[in-house]
Amino acid sequence: MLQLAGPSAQLFENAHFAIAYTGPTDGAAALGRRLEALYQAHVRLVREWNLPAHRPPSKLEVCFFARYDEFKSHLDRLLPDTPEALGFYDPNSNRTYLFDLATAPSVVAIRADVAQTRPAARDRVARRVAWLERSIIQHEAAHQVEFNIGLFRSAASAPRWLTEGLATLFELPLDPSGRPLEPLNGYRLYEFRKLYGGGVETLGDVRRFLADDEAWSGGRSYPLAWALTHYLREEHRAFLGALLRAVGAGRFPTSAAEREPILSEWFGPFDAPWVARFYEATMRLPLDASTFPG
Ligand SMILES: [Zn+2]
Repeated sequence: MLQLAGPSAQLFENAHFAIAYTGPTDGAAALGRRLEALYQAHVRLVREWNLPAHRPPSKLEVCFFARYDEFKSHLDRLLPDTPEALGFYDPNSNRTYLFDLATAPSVVAIRADVAQTRPAARDRVARRVAWLERSIIQHEAAHQVEFNIGLFRSAASAPRWLTEGLATLFELPLDPSGRPLEPLNGYRLYEFRKLYGGGVETLGDVRRFLADDEAWSGGRSYPLAWALTHYLREEHRAFLGALLRAVGAGRFPTSAAEREPILSEWFGPFDAPWVARFYEATMRLPLDASTFPG
């Protein structure tokens, strides 16, 4: 892995991760603390729902580059179809690829804009980086942890909304023991309201979204997956645990036709009143916009 990350790469290890890094050791250590808190957050989830999980046989491998361009060359090689990604978990190598998000093109652009026009808005840069660290680093590493502790066996064995929705639950600021420091994912709620605030009909076919992975449609699907996972955890906690156990044990079907009746029995029926309850409950959630990236 060290050779892969580059000739000057070094190795930082903690309890559950091995990080090959090309920047300062302080940065790798800070990433290590973030990832360890994320791992502990998963230990809490496994205990809470009595999920079939195991400690990974070896440390989880992460490449952490000092600069975006180093990262980008690996992205182009491994995921040529997703040129905009700012971090990813590669299931084939079982590695997560990350970089110092302060060097991300969008952050560099905001920094230049702020420096020229509005010095008072300098905390926009810090808020943007903090948000990216949660929504990219914690999100991608959550996928890696979830596959390696056995919550998910393969991408196809679990509904797409569930793998992505679960990862978005781990985008919160965490204390070192993995306890969330905020009650819910405010930015995903903000995105949900922006995309779907026009009324319940903007959601599309929720029943199909839950059963059929083909209904996934890129960026706009993430806040919907977050909202559904959050809602099911609040309102159908026992059955969401049952779904996670079934998926982890390889007892959940992969076809939409087989998934739909099981999900309807556990969580539904996904008729108009059900969708309206879900929508209204999500739109009523408290939204604190003060920490948004801007
Ligand atoms: Zn994801």
